[in-house]
Amino acid sequence: VIAPAAANIHLQDISFSYPEQPQKALDGISLSVNAGEHVAVLGRTGCGKSTLLQLLTRAWDPQHGEVLLNGVPLTHYSETALRASISMVPQRVHLFSATLRDNLLLAAPQASDEDLADVLTRTGLEKLLDDSGLNAWLGEGGRQLSGGELRRLAIARALLHDAPLVLLDEPTEGLDAATESQILELLEEVMQEKTVLMVTHRLRGLSRFDQIIVMDNGQIIEQGNHAAL
Ligand code: ATP
Ligand code: MG
Repeated sequence: VIAPAAANIHLQDISFSYPEQPQKALDGISLSVNAGEHVAVLGRTGCGKSTLLQLLTRAWDPQHGEVLLNGVPLTHYSETALRASISMVPQRVHLFSATLRDNLLLAAPQASDEDLADVLTRTGLEKLLDDSGLNAWLGEGGRQLSGGELRRLAIARALLHDAPLVLLDEPTEGLDAATESQILELLEEVMQEKTVLMVTHRLRGLSRFDQIIVMDNGQIIEQGNHAAL
């Protein structure tokens, strides 16, 4: 199955436990998201929000139930097709011990140096280019990035990747108010015309989402739009 241009998602009675964990991290989750819809995922710490996003990328597969992308089980897609379908801004952004260029190219192998420089400027990371440009060494043996810079790097990757399904795991967690509002502005761009699941603790701005789901203990305990909840 090839990578789709638009993404709708169906979770059908998903249950999942991590290896050697007796309790379920997800317990009977059903959810439908139409192409282009934006869904906010709320719930207290440990309730399964990140796990839910992980299952959409097939980092893990559920023991029960099925995840469908455009009506087709995720297991029927090749790794390449899935990767092309999904942009993820994870809760813990991974920095590779590699050049700035390679840290971005993993999201978009075809991108030119101009594309990379452009996206670094758009995400407010142009100062990373100051010393050695795109050859700057990041991570171990090189430059470490602050929490906000890491978040911007992940968003730069998502902008370059341009996939129909966008998964955002607390993209503004731990940022100061000014950085947060800059990041939210960038995210508007990332989310435009995409299907989006965003894990968030922010209650402000929820009215912009088509669906809000509230999780507890691996289950969806409330679901609806802003007006309904
Ligand atoms: P937070 O808001 O703190 O990020 P969360 O809602 O994202 O929380 P998850 O990370 O999905 O929560 O975790 C759900 C449950 O699964 C928790 O009980 C957690 O301890 C457990 N868990 C998460 N990752 C693993 C793992 N790799 N192995 C075993 N258990 C895990
Ligand atoms: Mg989490």
